[in-house]
Amino acid sequence: VIDLLDEGLRALRERARAFAAEAIAPLAAREEHEADEEGSVRECLRRLAQAGWLREVVPQEHGGARPRVSLRALCILREELAFASGLADVAFAMQGLGSFAVTLAGSEALRRRWLPAVASGRAIAAIAITEPQAGSDIAATATTARRDGDDYVLDGEKTLISNAGIADFYALLARTGPGEGSRGLSLFLVEGDRPGLSVPRRIPLIAPHPIGDLALSGCRVPAANRVGEEGEGFRIAMRTLDAFRPSVGAAAVGFARRALEEALGRARSVRRFGRPIGEFGAVRAALAESAVELEAARLLVLRAAALWDEEKSEDVTFASASAKLFATEAAQRGVDRAVQIHGGTGVVRGIPVERLYREVRALRLYEGTSEILREVIARGLLGERDRSPRA
Ligand SMILES: Cc1cc2nc3c(=O)[nH]c(=O)nc-3n(C[C@H](O)[C@H](O)[C@H](O)COP(=O)(O)OP(=O)(O)OC[C@H]3O[C@@H](n4cnc5c(N)ncnc54)[C@H](O)[C@@H]3O)c2cc1C
Repeated sequence: VIDLLDEGLRALRERARAFAAEAIAPLAAREEHEADEEGSVRECLRRLAQAGWLREVVPQEHGGARPRVSLRALCILREELAFASGLADVAFAMQGLGSFAVTLAGSEALRRRWLPAVASGRAIAAIAITEPQAGSDIAATATTARRDGDDYVLDGEKTLISNAGIADFYALLARTGPGEGSRGLSLFLVEGDRPGLSVPRRIPLIAPHPIGDLALSGCRVPAANRVGEEGEGFRIAMRTLDAFRPSVGAAAVGFARRALEEALGRARSVRRFGRPIGEFGAVRAALAESAVELEAARLLVLRAAALWDEEKSEDVTFASASAKLFATEAAQRGVDRAVQIHGGTGVVRGIPVERLYREVRALRLYEGTSEILREVIARGLLGERDRSPRA
């Protein structure tokens, strides 16, 4: 870790840790934090913006903190936020994930209009790729964008879209054709208040997370809202995922670290058979396993982020998939061990490890399921460049 973080990033970690403890942990402790997802996301964003943290998700030219977005900084922030609250982590992450396509490939006008608003918390960002019949298989995207003069007309459905209904804009993938599979896909910035765009359903999840479906029916967007060229949508979406997968791993590290801390507290304080449970070999082994996996996960995450930051593009896809795969799977095991060390108390609604148990699960599903990540890694190993099953 020492090699992967310079002095500036180490200082950022200290500041982020203090911010999470002072500004986020008290919010997460409130009863309404889980019940009122939208209110909690808005409050987290307000606090993140006020402290200047949202500036980390866009480049300096458009209101950001650094000349180029630092993925290591994003990973450090996500670990600290997730340690305090999964919802705060999601609020932060979506600002980056939703706006990154514009940062990578948007026109100057789109960047000027939206990136400073994302960095100041005035605009909430989202990314809309998944459809009822196109999750892992993005190339099966059925939403269409038909060119009509200076506009495109969008029709289709999206599902499981984080921030659905509260986002000010969606980076949305649609089929422009011609071109089979992934080659006919393009990305659009669709404002949340466009006529023809609606949110027919909010979807309740096992842990707090604002999410829902989108319906597009004759939704007209100007051609100037296209992000990148026609047919480039899949590539831009994949580049965005390459960048953000390590940060999902970082959030997993945050959950795992919190779980280990809670488990250590329990191991020291609870006595059974006349001694602290931390003196039993089985409990000690579980703590040791969790600690080693946590450290390994953080190293993979920071290494993948460093490769991106240093533009080692040939290694990024492999490293980023490996980091997300290992960190999210290890965090699931670590949280489960922490619940076990708590005994029956571990499943009591509202205690930290119970919340972590619900929060950690989704990370193995979104931004590439563990199965898809193994496939990405295997393709890299076998020297197969094309990553879309249907491209
Ligand atoms: C909390 C949460 C937030 C999300 N936020 C967003 C968002 O903001 N924007 C967005 O666009 N999407 C979002 N999603 C959707 C997410 O990206 C998809 O759920 C994910 O890509 C998996 O797609 P699916 O659900 O259709 O599962 P499927 O693709 O139907 O997969 C079902 C199972 O089959 C396996 N499988 C599929 N294909 C293969 C294969 N080729 N080889 C081996 N196994 C395979 C999968 O690994 C999985 O186990 C979110 C999901 C969650 C849970």
